[in-house]
Amino acid sequence: MDRLYIANGNNPLRMTLDLLKRADPLRSKDKNIAIGIKPNLVCASPASEGATTHPEIVEGIIIYLHDNGFKNIRIIESSWVGDSTKRAFKVCGYEEISEKYNIPLVDLKDDPYIAKSYKGTELKICRTVYDIDYLINVPVIKGHCQTGITCALKNLKGLIPDSEKRRFHTMGLHKPIAYLNALIRQDLIIADGICPDPYFEEGGRPTALNRIALGYDPVLMDCYAAQVLGYEPDRIKYIKLARDEGIGRPLSQDTEIISIYDSHEMNGSRIMQKDKKYLKIVDEADACSACYSNLVSALEKLNEMGITDRFADQICIGQAFRGYKGTIGIGDCTSCFEKHLPGCPPETEDIIKFLQELTSND
Ligand code: SF4
Repeated sequence: MDRLYIANGNNPLRMTLDLLKRADPLRSKDKNIAIGIKPNLVCASPASEGATTHPEIVEGIIIYLHDNGFKNIRIIESSWVGDSTKRAFKVCGYEEISEKYNIPLVDLKDDPYIAKSYKGTELKICRTVYDIDYLINVPVIKGHCQTGITCALKNLKGLIPDSEKRRFHTMGLHKPIAYLNALIRQDLIIADGICPDPYFEEGGRPTALNRIALGYDPVLMDCYAAQVLGYEPDRIKYIKLARDEGIGRPLSQDTEIISIYDSHEMNGSRIMQKDKKYLKIVDEADACSACYSNLVSALEKLNEMGITDRFADQICIGQAFRGYKGTIGIGDCTSCFEKHLPGCPPETEDIIKFLQELTSND
């Protein structure tokens, strides 16, 4: 039976403990197994901003594990290209958890990698993944400006080196995400839907969804996340690819969705996606998430200021533009462009300034 457990509310620690008590996912496991907890700490911003996993959820998992005799636990993560995982551990409240419960924090940016192959495609995976017997994925149910959404499947991108994250974008992102999930098994998923940003991976527009979901199947969890965020799951290409690879099953009439509290009134609430017409002026080819996301955030602000209509030329961004000559480019990859903003990735504020200056010079 495909099953998801949902807790509604705004007390992540209590909700996590109640979900784990109800599902009791590790009841038959050997107490000596090595457990890795993988939150989403994409950038150094507190969970209240809508990008990162609430530390209270991870704390709830640790309490459950300790209460059940599991001691070999570590928290593992690698933030996105351009941010420091160690800074994210500190800003997001994970250093306190580490000290309080004596749990090591593993910055996977320091890890060597192991090359693995799936269907002839070689992918580099951080070695720590292979020191772990049981992986608990703790993603955020949130939007993503390139893929639409991100949740369980895409959160595994934090288990690969930065060079590989960049390469994923040159490979079209969707297929390598699906293949990565064929190579790494996630045993348990606890998805944070407390106050996610429905549009941007790096947060900044937190929206109260007030829920946490527990499940075992990343495809099923991501289908649920897509629906909550206002998408048809089939519109998210990597979910479909992962399903086709047999990594999991979609939501269906057979899916049992168990609301663990009596209150059902929040279960049906969904996000309505905004029309982002201003993205038509962007030509994106193999851009890294941080780079593209910063550009989209900048354009959103410029759109509010009524400036985006003034661009006659496409704004180019991404690794595929390396060595090409063009007119307006964002990031080091467009260094051959006539007008280009350096940075890898450039900051949102710098992009706003750069584009504002371009329009005022026209
Ligand atoms: S400049 Fe190029 S390599 Fe650097 S973050 Fe942007 S797209 Fe990625």
